[in-house]
Amino acid sequence: MNYLADSNRYADMVYNRCGNSGLKLPAISLGLWHNFGGVDSFENGRAMLRRAFDLGITHFDLANNYGPPPGSAEVMFGEMLNQDFKGYRDEMVISTKAGYHMWDGPYGEWGSKKYLISSLDQSLKRMGLDYVDIFYSHRFDPDTPLEETMAALDQIVRQGKALYIGISSYDSEQTTKAVEILNRLGTPLLIHQPSYSMLNRWIEEDGLQEVLTRNGVGSIAFCPLEQGLLTNKYLKEIPKDSRASKETGFLNKDRVTEDVITKVKQLNELAENRGQNITQMALAWVLREGRVTSALIGASRVSQIEENVKALNNLKFTNEELASIDRILNS
Ligand code: NDP
Repeated sequence: MNYLADSNRYADMVYNRCGNSGLKLPAISLGLWHNFGGVDSFENGRAMLRRAFDLGITHFDLANNYGPPPGSAEVMFGEMLNQDFKGYRDEMVISTKAGYHMWDGPYGEWGSKKYLISSLDQSLKRMGLDYVDIFYSHRFDPDTPLEETMAALDQIVRQGKALYIGISSYDSEQTTKAVEILNRLGTPLLIHQPSYSMLNRWIEEDGLQEVLTRNGVGSIAFCPLEQGLLTNKYLKEIPKDSRASKETGFLNKDRVTEDVITKVKQLNELAENRGQNITQMALAWVLREGRVTSALIGASRVSQIEENVKALNNLKFTNEELASIDRILNS
């Protein structure tokens, strides 16, 4: 059946300005790392994409290697765009990345101009797009001059293959240098994509957040639910259909520890007092005080997306709540 987007889709979503740019991103974005590969159900992925868009999620995040097999998430997404979203391209912010291993030989990973430009060309073909909205260097390359990686990003924008550029998982020092080079080239850095969650606060400790704020760069936090650990699903057991039990998932069973489960139970009690569950509170916490522009979630079913956007109903924390959360996390 033809898809017609919900006419009410912009009513409840929160849109945040991405750094000093003109671009606004939804407070909750959807990533296609898991559950959109060639091994996954096309119809389930399609239903999630439709529902996300109906709920005001305008930003969809991919990478060259998402699958499995690598590249298949872009192929699936391209097919969904073609079938359902043809008339909505200008209402969507689509990102992809290159940095991790994609093809054999010396030009299939890291940060050379040779790799980044050819990888983006391949991604555009897989998705059937003329351009992406954001293109990322997926990881810092210690062996390629940063000037070359940044010049490749600048060139990609000038060629019209991406509107904006981003970097992912660069530390504060690498980011400072990248910002300087890009400002010199005249293509300012739009966004940084780091991992960030209640269980992973490296961007606070490393000083990355200050670097981004100081330079007017936006941020989008990946794995805000720590791949599902910050939900209710692992409290009793590791369910069969969960990421931790899937062969193709990146969440190792060993990460479901007594310690994590104890903390999640305590956090859940606190969340309930706020009218939320742990999942919703974990997302609100990542977004607190405008620290990040968007929380980049994954999902394996439509109901998770519906549940997660409700996090936006309560984004405020009292000082006491924040202190209690810290106490639980540090216990
Ligand atoms: P999350 O931390 O949001 O984990 C998502 C998983 O948590 C879901 O697949 C689901 O797992 C579970 N989940 C989500 N909502 C609920 C809910 N309401 N109730 C119960 N379980 C829930 O993010 P991801 O790890 O999926 O990463 C998100 C995106 O971040 C990726 O798609 C990608 O775009 C980006 N990313 C970027 C990286 C980078 O290097 N730049 C690296 C990793 C991710 P289950 O299958 O068990 O149901």
